[in-house]
Amino acid sequence: ILKVQDLTKTYKSGSKNLTVLKNVNFEIEKGTSFSIVGPSGSGKTTLLGLCAGLDRASSGKVVLNGHALETLNEDQRAAVRNQNVGFVFQNFQLLPTLTALENVMVPMELRKEKNIRARSLELLDRVGLADRHDHYPTQLSGGEQQRISIARAFSNQPEILFADEPTGNLDEETSEKVEELLFSLNKEAGTTLILVTHDLELANKTNRIIRIKGGQVVFDSELANTETSI
Ligand code: ATP
Repeated sequence: ILKVQDLTKTYKSGSKNLTVLKNVNFEIEKGTSFSIVGPSGSGKTTLLGLCAGLDRASSGKVVLNGHALETLNEDQRAAVRNQNVGFVFQNFQLLPTLTALENVMVPMELRKEKNIRARSLELLDRVGLADRHDHYPTQLSGGEQQRISIARAFSNQPEILFADEPTGNLDEETSEKVEELLFSLNKEAGTTLILVTHDLELANKTNRIIRIKGGQVVFDSELANTETSI
């Protein structure tokens, strides 16, 4: 469902070039779960953003559910994202002036869909927070905010759910609830799950792990001959 080929990303700032990903290759099967681990600054978030079509690669290919992203313009990439991708951001990124329900409704409103309120309530119910629909983000715990952001990411029933450090800011008990939710979406809805995480326990629960260091894949749990261990 996702194919990454010789992916390279160089950020340009002023006269300086910073290559943060170098010739990254992997392929992810539909319906599986996959995690990307690695030290801070190694390029994990950049890689996730390129795979989800949020940003453009400097060279190489990303084929997302059959769409070769490098061949698309900005609008086409946005359309592919809308149809295929849900994205859970590192610090929830809920809009503070909107209630939980309104936050979930936003992407559906942008897509001009129907039955938005009822469907958003269903999504909140699915993440166990229907009774908190009229609460504002500041009135919710970190774990609750993360579950709302997962409900929002799931509003287009994506084939692939990307999550950047979904349990990064949460305590152990709350992390477990968020993990359960992610894996239930993976198992019950068949959503392909692609995570960036520092939590090796969480990574170990996924079907496959890659470790990125200095912008390169230094470990792939699927390849027997990888030199470095996790
Ligand atoms: P962390 O675990 O700390 O979140 P990461 O592995 O996700 O880190 P990235 O966020 O992908 O790493 O960043 C990789 C490198 O690219 C870092 O050195 C970062 O400073 C740099 N970088 C990220 N985004 C940009 C940008 N838009 N412009 C310039 N440099 C950037």
